Amino acid sequence: MPPVLEVHNLHVYYYTLRGIVRAVEDVSFSLERGEVLGIAGESGCGKSTLAWSLLKLVPPPGRITKGRIIIDGEDITSMSEAEVRRRVRWQKISMVFQGAMNALNPVYKVWEQIAEPLIIHKGYSRQEAYKRVVEALNMVGLSEDIANRYPHELSGGQKQRVVIAMALILEPPIVIADEPTTALDTIIQAQILNLLKELKNKLNMSIILISHDLSVIAELADKVAIMYAGKIVEYGPSEEVYNHPQHPYTQELLKAIPRLRAPRMKLNYIPGQPPDLRAPPPGCRFHPRCPHVMDKCRKEQPPYFEVGPGHYAACWLHEGKPATEKPIKESSA
Ligand code: SF4
Repeated sequence: MPPVLEVHNLHVYYYTLRGIVRAVEDVSFSLERGEVLGIAGESGCGKSTLAWSLLKLVPPPGRITKGRIIIDGEDITSMSEAEVRRRVRWQKISMVFQGAMNALNPVYKVWEQIAEPLIIHKGYSRQEAYKRVVEALNMVGLSEDIANRYPHELSGGQKQRVVIAMALILEPPIVIADEPTTALDTIIQAQILNLLKELKNKLNMSIILISHDLSVIAELADKVAIMYAGKIVEYGPSEEVYNHPQHPYTQELLKAIPRLRAPRMKLNYIPGQPPDLRAPPPGCRFHPRCPHVMDKCRKEQPPYFEVGPGHYAACWLHEGKPATEKPIKESSA
């Protein structure tokens, strides 16, 4: 079965008064049906821009400048905004936005906000839509009385569940969850991750889980893409990436995770700052911070080296292994 989503050589730039910000550059990956892909990296590495671009919702002055996004065999990059709104957004791909409170309109009741796509896209009457909303609320573990409340009457965990119900209301095959557990306490975080796991199995949906927190991604993801400065630097099965990271950036990120059961030791951190994406460093973008930097890294951008089955790292340390320009095959679409 072909992947439900393929992204090929995607470039997203912001044309600001202070220069062109190359937020996402030459990003390629694929997503199978029922699969969870985790996208991880530091703040500002382009994760959220990548997510918005998949819905063609990049805020101005940003835009997709190059590349293809293929959803269910259809290239959406060339579609008009009206067509994307009518046929793709919320129906084929939807998003659980970062910060549940900001994603909800404070002046509408919960049910009215969830019902909107049903009324607009599916022609439901208000009564039919209300019934369907209650079902969706039940599915995410909320009772009917939540439907008639305003967002300020809900707890953080309830708001996050409402936002998930909203993303699922048209049963899209792909859901993007952008930092779905940020600002929630640990117990609620675990509940939300379990909920996503249950829904994924029940609905066989594909999820793109975006987080700066590798432990959140480890809970759910089948595959992981590690982003640094607008590019994917390592991509592969999550067990492989976590247990045998092959890119120095991934290795440093994993060392920076505090471990509860490990002996007490000084926490590791990656010295330096991510680069200014208006003028990223030449060669490997990680070279100013890399403990293994070589001369070549400062001049030439590494391709993806296949370091294991389906596991790729864009790092010159693996020169000699099979190399490719992107970690997925060209589709026929
Ligand atoms: Fe470090 Fe060079 Fe590999 Fe980049 S290519 S991660 S600078 S060793």
